[in-house]
Amino acid sequence: MTRAGQEYIESLRDGREIWLDGELVKDVTTHPAFRNTVRSIAGLYDMTHDPAFRDVLTVRPEGPERAEGADARIHRAYAIPRSHEDLVARRKAFKTWSEASYGFLGRSPDYMASGIAGFAALPGVFAGAEFDGTANLDAYYRRMSQGDLYQSFTLANPQADRTKAASEQERDDLYIRVVKELDGGIVVRGAKMIGTAAIFGNEIIVGTIEPLPAKDADYALSFSIPLDTPGLKFISRTSYEAAARTVFDNPLSSRFDENDSMLICEDVFVPWENVLVYRDVEASFKQWWVTPAYWNFVHQAATRFWTKLEFLVGLGILIAKANGTYELPPVQIQIGRLMGWLNMAKSMLLAAEASYEAVPGGDGAVQINKEIASAHRFMAADVYPKVLQEIKTLAGGGLIQLPASGLDLRHPVIGDLVAKYVRSPGAGPEKRVKLFKLAWDALGSEFAGRHEQYERFYHGAPHIYLPSMVRDGSPDLCERLAQSCLDGYELADEPAGFAA
Ligand SMILES: Cc1cc2nc3c(=O)[nH]c(=O)nc-3n(C[C@H](O)[C@H](O)[C@H](O)COP(=O)(O)OP(=O)(O)OC[C@H]3O[C@@H](n4cnc5c(N)ncnc54)[C@H](O)[C@@H]3O)c2cc1C
Repeated sequence: MTRAGQEYIESLRDGREIWLDGELVKDVTTHPAFRNTVRSIAGLYDMTHDPAFRDVLTVRPEGPERAEGADARIHRAYAIPRSHEDLVARRKAFKTWSEASYGFLGRSPDYMASGIAGFAALPGVFAGAEFDGTANLDAYYRRMSQGDLYQSFTLANPQADRTKAASEQERDDLYIRVVKELDGGIVVRGAKMIGTAAIFGNEIIVGTIEPLPAKDADYALSFSIPLDTPGLKFISRTSYEAAARTVFDNPLSSRFDENDSMLICEDVFVPWENVLVYRDVEASFKQWWVTPAYWNFVHQAATRFWTKLEFLVGLGILIAKANGTYELPPVQIQIGRLMGWLNMAKSMLLAAEASYEAVPGGDGAVQINKEIASAHRFMAADVYPKVLQEIKTLAGGGLIQLPASGLDLRHPVIGDLVAKYVRSPGAGPEKRVKLFKLAWDALGSEFAGRHEQYERFYHGAPHIYLPSMVRDGSPDLCERLAQSCLDGYELADEPAGFAA
């Protein structure tokens, strides 16, 4: 049974150690830096109980993931897709939740839930020669899916010297590694670079997504632990929610700041039952790349990206209309370009579903088409900054010609002046200020800058994913076709022209 929003909120009131601006945050659910976003996420959970969304968002699974009990519905993201219809149904669930934040909550609970379902689709990957994590995986999958728990991940290591392996960094315990083995579990020490939305979750999963050399076996771990585990520290980045004045002035950052934090493990004890991969460089890699986990992440992310582009294109249209420029031919070209990017994002997602693949060894499980999913990852990182730029060009100085506070419109001295000079044809000043403040939050604010960096990097850096498209794609086919053209003619004595 999925949780209601209030149940989710109460689950965050534990002993988690979150640091912000040198302050130990006592309660993320009430702290001004986090509370609105907590409520936005709680709203997602409430939607799973709303008759209008229940069947879209939840399912009573029929496979091995089926839970005991009278009403064993789980979120669709936790179910293992076994057909094209299942993929479409899961996408509709992703879409419904992403629309609730206009695509600005990248790591809503369905993101990692789909990854966990990916692990569960291929449990054999966790059966290493030295450590068999399959029973732990089964318990983990049931705990998360049936408890409807919220998790995000921390996989990337801190940026230190990117040319060196983990064990070659200038400090041994820079990246998370095992430092002690005890009867009941392991002790880990080190840090992970960023955990988006981690502080809003119930558990955090730690792993490593890049290939590790055999000498880095101490770093080849994967485990999931509750946020209040002793020794676990989260250092939060600047909170845009805290900096927001009001919902009117900062409509997105005040409510959808999913936060990113650095995770530090100070000799954290991890019980064996929470360990999925232990000192196994092969399983550590395969967990993300051979199970459908990564492709499930892309399925969620591509759906959210589609929603985000719909929202941004809509914003561009409203801005052009507010400035009276919408019908101008050059502006129609700009809007057409935006629509082109939007439809490209949508069609790649639908094509990746339609040309789905069986998960090899996955007992009927399916995943979206990997080649298209990889191309989407590249496309989205490339297109997002262009979309922002196009809409900023449409908007001009209107993004800046704004009173600091919407309440200036009601000020006894300057209210009438602001209303006189900040206006759009046919629309009152409040409507214009409201639109352009939303636009600035989405396009130009610190929150917007973070989103641009997110879309560029959250699925890895270009120097990793672009070569992988050559490695995993079909360069031979392209080369063969070009070569066949070259092979079709020779240098001849006759003048140019077709031979009879
Ligand atoms: C907003 C945001 C949220 C994120 N959330 C999460 C999260 O929730 N969980 C998580 O695990 N990670 C998260 N990440 C981290 C993300 O996974 C990494 O940013 C990503 O994997 C790229 O790694 P990096 O940032 O260390 O970049 P690097 O690997 O350090 O690369 C940065 C740049 O350095 C150059 N470079 C570095 N090495 C090489 C090389 N060998 N060859 C050529 N050029 C090179 C390239 O120009 C590259 O673009 C997030 C990142 C962002 C920006």
